[in-house]
Amino acid sequence: MNKEIKITFLGGLGEIGRNCAVLEKNGRLLILDCGIMFPNPDMPGVDLVLPDFSYILERKDNIDGIVLTHGHEDHVGALPYLLKNVDTRLFGSAFTLETARGRIEEAGISLHDKLVVVKDGERRIIGAFDVEFIPVTHSVPCAFAVAVHTDSGVILHSGDFKIDLSPVDNRKIDLGRIGQIAKEEGITLLLADSTNADKPGFTDSESGVGKVLEAIFMAHADMRVIVACFASHIHRIQQLINASVKSGRKVALVGRSMLRSVSIAKEIGIIDIPGNVLIDIESAGNYQPGEICVISTGSQGEPMSVLTLLASGENKNITLTDNDLVVLSSHVIPGNEWSVAEVMNNLARKNVEVIDSEVAHVHASGHASRGELATLLNIAAPRCFIPVHGERKHLLAHAGLAAEAGVKQENIVICEDGDQVLLEDDSVKIVNKIPAPYVYVDGTIGEMKDVLRDRRFLASDGVVTIAVAVSGEKIVGEPCITSRGWLGAGEEEIFLPQALGVIREAVTYALVAQSADPVEIKRIIKREISKLIYEYTKRRPIVIPMVVME
Ligand SMILES: [Zn+2]
Ligand SMILES: [Zn+2]
Repeated sequence: MNKEIKITFLGGLGEIGRNCAVLEKNGRLLILDCGIMFPNPDMPGVDLVLPDFSYILERKDNIDGIVLTHGHEDHVGALPYLLKNVDTRLFGSAFTLETARGRIEEAGISLHDKLVVVKDGERRIIGAFDVEFIPVTHSVPCAFAVAVHTDSGVILHSGDFKIDLSPVDNRKIDLGRIGQIAKEEGITLLLADSTNADKPGFTDSESGVGKVLEAIFMAHADMRVIVACFASHIHRIQQLINASVKSGRKVALVGRSMLRSVSIAKEIGIIDIPGNVLIDIESAGNYQPGEICVISTGSQGEPMSVLTLLASGENKNITLTDNDLVVLSSHVIPGNEWSVAEVMNNLARKNVEVIDSEVAHVHASGHASRGELATLLNIAAPRCFIPVHGERKHLLAHAGLAAEAGVKQENIVICEDGDQVLLEDDSVKIVNKIPAPYVYVDGTIGEMKDVLRDRRFLASDGVVTIAVAVSGEKIVGEPCITSRGWLGAGEEEIFLPQALGVIREAVTYALVAQSADPVEIKRIIKREISKLIYEYTKRRPIVIPMVVME
């Protein structure tokens, strides 16, 4: 039996999002998380970004299971796309699995008995792998770190975590168990969350946010309060409900994902809502503004979300006035700044008071800052270290911390998407690199690679199509030119006659000199029109020539 363990990173290293890694032992595979990334502003028309699953699909008969650390989209959001082609079991906490279930079943994939709920601290054999699920604190309930016990020692993956010493649900991170593993077996390799590796100190406890929210609710006793937060942030929602009860408010939950997430939390008993607190949004009008708290989705300014529609006055149940307070109990995910600013401006137009995390402590991060990362490194005392879950700068900062904590420099490996590492005899090294391109999902089209270059050109330079009918050695009728996105009003009349002249000349030349090869005619039209447009406008729109031979 070979003792080697291979780990392949399909995403999450060099970017925040699409976390997915593959552990391999004697040809068997264990997949760790399967997430999406949200698109950047330079990805026009893209809804989601996925890992490239080719590596997994080529070995799909050898998969022992998928282990899920927690229910955030960047860890479970790509499951519907992978499970279309892969038939295997999923292991995670009840909240994680139920959160993932909705999207998977919506995609028409039946799960039967594929979801395997694991309990805090549970250790179980998953095919060739001996996996232990260790509780950690994070901004979603029931998150795990994962320890894989192997003949080469223990591999500990932190999942997303912070060290919250006073968690809202009192479910603490089990640092004791991590210390015990370190002492008894030794941790050969630690892979840990780098999101906040450049932030000094310790991340605030979630319970501190609850106190601030309560004070805000009390200080705005006569006003209706509308709070936007992540639907999966059950601890935040719990604290909003507590603050509502204390300040004599009923709570209306709005937004599909908010309702779904709270209903899962109720079902598995991890949220405590007194019997008479929840009301339907339709009956909110029966109460005084100071008796209402609305908890909604939309903290990222998503186009069709409740808060966005409220801000633009398009929600049928609530009309905002200057007697409303909107609290954005979240941070803005990079890339969403513009949409959130737009929502804030729309709220300002309605004289709505807004409190966000810049104004008051209404949000705490779910990720460990440097103090906590150093604490984990000290307790786990790993022989080897790979920083994960972060952009390059976060990975580098985390690697620096590991060196300070005493991990030998030669045992700290900074990886990128596509890197394969081999763990053997207490050392880890990069042995190979496989392609790990972004796979884009456009709602209606589905998955696609390599389309963004064209979309960026279309967005920045526009397009021109030219249709020419040819018979023998002559052009038939008038060439048809259509342009979009690069000629301003009034410019078309000046440009089109010149373009027609160039096309006629180019096609006539091609017909006489190059014979009537449509591919050649198209190439010449494209070259000559591109030249003319560039001389005329200094732009390079996409030129699409079409030739019809009659
Ligand atoms: Zn994450
Ligand atoms: Zn997370």
